[in-house]
Amino acid sequence: MSKSASSGMQDRPSLKTLERRAKAILKARPAYKEMVDFYLNVFRKQIEWRDRLVVEPETVSDQQRKECMKQGQPLIESFDPGIGTESLTDLWAEMKTIFRRGNEVLREAIEKIDTAEDAGDLSPANWLLEQRADRYDAVADTARKIEVEETVLATLTRATTFPHWEEVARAWLSQDLVDRWKRFRCPTCGGPPGLAENRKQSCSQEGLTAATRRFMHCSFCGSDWAVPGLDCPSCGSTKSGDAKYYFATEEPDLRIDFCKSCKHYVIVVDGEKVAGPVHVGLELLTAAHLDTIAQEKDLSPLELCA
Ligand SMILES: [Zn+2]
Ligand SMILES: [Zn+2]
Repeated sequence: MSKSASSGMQDRPSLKTLERRAKAILKARPAYKEMVDFYLNVFRKQIEWRDRLVVEPETVSDQQRKECMKQGQPLIESFDPGIGTESLTDLWAEMKTIFRRGNEVLREAIEKIDTAEDAGDLSPANWLLEQRADRYDAVADTARKIEVEETVLATLTRATTFPHWEEVARAWLSQDLVDRWKRFRCPTCGGPPGLAENRKQSCSQEGLTAATRRFMHCSFCGSDWAVPGLDCPSCGSTKSGDAKYYFATEEPDLRIDFCKSCKHYVIVVDGEKVAGPVHVGLELLTAAHLDTIAQEKDLSPLELCA
């Protein structure tokens, strides 16, 4: 799929950017080595597959898209993502091969998934096609039903669906469009943001110089979009006194933003310290210690207000 000409959004990370960032992260946080080594196989596979994906999202006119952005309605609620079944099941099979080469837990889980598929208890085609950002309950239910570790099923499933949804987002969104989106949920799939990023964005209007803006990244479809100021994504508080953060000098590229009022937090990456576009999967994987810190401070992960 070609990138839309009008798109001014961030490019997707290339293999080179991914590997460069992984190296920098491991230098600063060597404890993640084993995890990063494994997941790089998954991320590399997703990037390699970009040209092979079969994704033909329904054509949405500018007028229709603008209307959805104005109404605060994620595009998935009105339009067909057109994701190809074979493309999903082929990538699923290749991801299973990667997982089988992982540790004992992964190997065992993949064996159970194979058994469930053979017995007709899990149809990968239907399973993958039905995935939506808000369907984590379905993952938990199915994992229980086929007696597989929930985290493995979730990771394998998302590893397969993510690059497909990334294509959908790229076909549907453009910078001028997401600038009309003033919400915290993802404009493409409606999911909650997985990660925030502070990044300078040059302003073409009225000769303004580059200003740092806050962006949200969706871990289901890879969309990213700017959000207003420091408003709280959970309770909507706009009081500047409610916006707080934790920061450690030894990790200048990361911080935890939280709301004093509702006690929800989001992990923030400093986009200026990441050379190239942010890879949401890699950043989340290697910021897991911040989740532990946040939860020790009685903060909860983001939950979006209705
Ligand atoms: Zn999304
Ligand atoms: Zn809040």
